[in-house]
Amino acid sequence: MAVPRESASGERRVALIPEIVSKLGARGFEIVVEHGAGLGAGFDDASYEAAGASLLEGGALYDGSAATVRVAPPTADDVARLTPGTVLAGFLAPLADPAGIERLRDRGVVAFAMESIPRITRAQSMDALSSQATVSGYKAVLLAADRSPKMFPLLMTAAGTVAPARALVLGAGVAGLQAIATARRLGAVVSAFDVRPAVREQVESLGASFLDLGVTGEETEGGYAKELTPEQQAEQQRALEERIPGFDIVITTALVPGRPAPRLIPATAVESMAAGSVIVDLAAEAGGNCELTVPGEETTAHGVTIVGLTNLPSLMAADASRLYARNIQALLEHLGPDGELVLDWDDEITAGACVTRPEGASE
Ligand code: NAD
Repeated sequence: MAVPRESASGERRVALIPEIVSKLGARGFEIVVEHGAGLGAGFDDASYEAAGASLLEGGALYDGSAATVRVAPPTADDVARLTPGTVLAGFLAPLADPAGIERLRDRGVVAFAMESIPRITRAQSMDALSSQATVSGYKAVLLAADRSPKMFPLLMTAAGTVAPARALVLGAGVAGLQAIATARRLGAVVSAFDVRPAVREQVESLGASFLDLGVTGEETEGGYAKELTPEQQAEQQRALEERIPGFDIVITTALVPGRPAPRLIPATAVESMAAGSVIVDLAAEAGGNCELTVPGEETTAHGVTIVGLTNLPSLMAADASRLYARNIQALLEHLGPDGELVLDWDDEITAGACVTRPEGASE
């Protein structure tokens, strides 16, 4: 099982951490790790060696490896180094990057995308979308608190009273709920909105109020939001524009799988916010929930700071890798319960997560 050093720019996470290497070793897996693979996340080569891994240089990494586990999608060069017939598991962006999947198909790789693991109870321990969204939601609030000129909690001091910051979280899925909980812990007064009506109770149970924007969307069988109609989108933008000036911090997390991020905050709404307000747009990678978001950048418009950074889990690389490695461990133990990969294509998780495989890859 090969663990390469991530090649995507700015990626600090690693697919396996030493603790999980030793657990997989006990199951019979042999792990080879590329020199320096864990450094960005705070795990040095010696800690992998102590956990039972062999350390290798890039070229030799794939010789004899039955599988490769990674975090970010592989580049064309990475794919060219994979042995045809080998297994690959990692984030592969199957909906956003069909050309990347095509490359893996051409190479004859058996590829499992973490994004495609069915969100069923049996697969919860493999759910890397959730584990990384939890990290993103937490970090988004820390970034907002850092960029804001206001303190979050209510303070009553001899020098007077400081009013608490008012935070709005748009989209209350996994990342949004973590953002609500984190902002509450810091003392902000938090409101949240989601198009899925079932979320109201979860928002309120975290001590936030549900902001009623008068728009209710539909849910797919898998629990995801469906895209709003153009009329509903216009209504949502209008209602939001009216309410948004009341908030110091806005964290947006709204996503619809396989679609561009819904546009929730038009430029005019940003203009109506008080100078010094902060928007952290977690949907930046999918185009952004705010019209003025520049993906990958932090910008200022009308005195409002807009954070469009695209890989927040990488900024918390140690714990993001720790959680991700447990997801990978659960997937590997599912695919190879006794340390040897036995792929059962009748299994819902194995078949669901596989995004490409050569014909005849039956075992
Ligand atoms: P996501 O990242 O796809 O979307 C984030 C949120 O944006 C969702 O809550 C969605 O409803 C919301 N959204 C979409 N369009 C919007 C709009 N126009 N305005 C406001 N909000 C909008 O979703 P996610 O966080 O990955 O999870 C979505 C659902 O899947 C949740 O119900 C979650 O509980 C469920 N889930 C189930 C499992 C499991 O059963 N194993 C695991 C994880 C998540």
